[in-house]
Amino acid sequence: MCGARLDETGTLDLHHVSYGGVTKDSSGRWQAREADADLLPMCREHHEELHRTLDEHGRDYMGWNRRRASVVIIARLRRNHSQTKDNTV
Ligand SMILES: [Zn+2]
Ligand SMILES: [Zn+2]
Repeated sequence: MCGARLDETGTLDLHHVSYGGVTKDSSGRWQAREADADLLPMCREHHEELHRTLDEHGRDYMGWNRRRASVVIIARLRRNHSQTKDNTV
């Protein structure tokens, strides 16, 4: 998602764009029903940077929800990825 390739990084983190999959059922138990669509694979470096950016802006990132904010920030990080790649190749 952030532009890193699994064979380059060896491992990819999964970022949760939404906690909407966690719900309370009728008996009052919390149930985690995560859709795969709520997980974004990205490299560790960018994952940490994404969280730093989200933290800096608090709960609301320019009034966007977590999913939208994550996608926009990752899109920006992704450009950095290709720049880094261009410089090193
Ligand atoms: Zn995350
Ligand atoms: Zn990355």
